Amino acid sequence: MLRFNRANKTWWRKPLAIFRGRTIPAELAVLSTELKPDESGAWLNSRGLASGVVDLMNVGGETKTARIPLPDCVTESLRKILAAAQLRKGIPDLVIWDAPAKSIRLVEVKCPHWDRPTSEQEIIFETLRRLQIPFKVVEWEFIEDAHSAPSTFEFKEDRDFFKRLICQDGESFDRYLQLFDFRSPIVKRKEFNARRRGLLAMLQLKHGRGCMLAYPGTCDDASGFSVDHIIPLSSNVLNKRLRALAPKPGKKVEAQSLGSNHPLNLVLACNNCNGHKKHRLLDWGKLRELLKLNAD
Ligand SMILES: [Zn+2]
Repeated sequence: MLRFNRANKTWWRKPLAIFRGRTIPAELAVLSTELKPDESGAWLNSRGLASGVVDLMNVGGETKTARIPLPDCVTESLRKILAAAQLRKGIPDLVIWDAPAKSIRLVEVKCPHWDRPTSEQEIIFETLRRLQIPFKVVEWEFIEDAHSAPSTFEFKEDRDFFKRLICQDGESFDRYLQLFDFRSPIVKRKEFNARRRGLLAMLQLKHGRGCMLAYPGTCDDASGFSVDHIIPLSSNVLNKRLRALAPKPGKKVEAQSLGSNHPLNLVLACNNCNGHKKHRLLDWGKLRELLKLNAD
């Protein structure tokens, strides 16, 4: 995992990294670290296969990209990959070539806090394997993100509460820790939204099309379906129940970050039940039933 300092600046809503004294997108920082002396490379930046970005420049106070045309043989190789994959897009972020050898390799740049491979990219990865074109995934994160999230429960009473809620007598709580993720709910929500459609399809495939929450009197499959978190991404239930925390004037009681986007924590819910559950916790019986369905 590469780690960069976060610059206090964004570009097309993309947070920029500080790399060797410069402020650039993580993709270009990874490109710099990847290039060997005989190689050239560019960030494809989803604008066709004829050119790529090699730098970000400050021109008269404006941020501009330095774009170069790709050698014809590189463009041709990229087109062949898409044709073999029967897709129109999805080529990894970076293309690197060695001109004399006429060979290319590809690098996908990922920040696990934000993105996961799309189904298109999975097909492309498979195609690259088939065509024996070298590629790799390079992961990176901002240094602050690596340190900002607590890795365990802030309060011991919370851990005990969930152990009682989830575990049967004598059962270890460790196997359920993947239900929890204590990073900022904003980051978790962003990651979730990026994968929402794929997760919904996955749940429908696994569990059929019925609502798994099934609140009596509320449930209605005709309301449509969404993905629901068994342990909510954030909730103030424990602050209220265990600590009797008082709200600040005019506000609700402060919420904590709790649930994860791990498949064990996700269920298929009709929109009525999803709207009803919100940040609530399920009772022991329902929780056990759903966890068992997800573990199978
Ligand atoms: Zn329902």
